[in-house]
Amino acid sequence: MLIFDAHLDLAMNALEWNRDLTRSIDEIRQREKGMTDKPDRGRSTVCLPEMRRGGIGLCVATQIARIEHNAYSPVFGWRSQEQAWAQTRGQLAWYRTMEETGRMAQIKDSDGLERHLRLWAEAPLSSPSSPSSSSSIQIGAGNNDQNGNEDHREQKLPIGYILNLEGADSIVTLKHLERAHEQGLRAVGPAHYGPGVYANGTDATGGFKAKGREFLKEMQQLGIILDVTHLCDDCFWEALDLFSGPIWASHQNCRALVPHNRQFSDEQIKALVGRGAVIGAALDAWMMVPGWVRGKTTPQSAGLILEKIIEHIDRVCQIAGNARHSGIGSDLDGAFGREQTPADLDTIADLACIPAMLKARGYSEEEVTLVAHGNFVRFLKEAWS
Ligand SMILES: [Zn+2]
Repeated sequence: MLIFDAHLDLAMNALEWNRDLTRSIDEIRQREKGMTDKPDRGRSTVCLPEMRRGGIGLCVATQIARIEHNAYSPVFGWRSQEQAWAQTRGQLAWYRTMEETGRMAQIKDSDGLERHLRLWAEAPLSSPSSPSSSSSIQIGAGNNDQNGNEDHREQKLPIGYILNLEGADSIVTLKHLERAHEQGLRAVGPAHYGPGVYANGTDATGGFKAKGREFLKEMQQLGIILDVTHLCDDCFWEALDLFSGPIWASHQNCRALVPHNRQFSDEQIKALVGRGAVIGAALDAWMMVPGWVRGKTTPQSAGLILEKIIEHIDRVCQIAGNARHSGIGSDLDGAFGREQTPADLDTIADLACIPAMLKARGYSEEEVTLVAHGNFVRFLKEAWS
């Protein structure tokens, strides 16, 4: 079954982690042996061959670059918006190169989406196999060699991506937002962690600044989807009032299951359902189970398995009263690897196990399809109609 992953930081991994995502996961891990500059070295779970193997044919892929704030800088930030903008230009250049070589395809309108869905529907998909048997992939004309690397002689089935910006610090002026939209930017999350130029994100408080309100207005005019993920509670509720365009939450779990402001309360989920939003369930361990301590807790010690994500998906469905607002936004390459993912997940290809898990919980074939990709696809068609 086609899987839509609503949140991956592919270009960040390619350029900041120096990962060649066209190579096999084994080779990428191998190359990082002994490296300690990032917490997830040697344990990554995402690359293009693994996405194809798991049937993850469509994703929302980010540009991400924030600026530093004196009072709060738990994550790296650039010294200026101009530098952050330049960083996102580099990330776009990587996506473009993937397009030029036929590995990815940018999806920016309904026609493109239809074409891409047809391409994948007509390609013979491999059945989801065991996690590490990466040698025999039968997708389209392009296969992988014995090491799971791409066969460069053959045309590969491109992975469709919708361009998203995670945290809007890099948008220097509204003219830059216009330019980004022309280049295919279709969704923006105004904030990331802490205070941002336009909005306040995770662990911060306070509503939109005047600049942020102008920003939302311009997004709406351009028809850009508002990603409410990472907005602090104050900004979240304000955004719902200020913004009347399409809203989704690309990678977001339930606060009732894991108490922390990074997750949404049931009230927030209810409000999003009312706005027709789709909420992507994230596979970052600390957002899946309560009490996770980064660098200390292990998936094994927490008993964390993939099945846990079904609880977050199910809660959204129970609040909505149907399965039309839940999806997957794995975030599997968001600066963590196997040290912080479910113990039984080896690579992103294992997302292919989620449909069967939903079925086992009593979800119908139709509902499972909605969660796997149908809801986000429907959302995009409506947003782009
Ligand atoms: Zn994020």
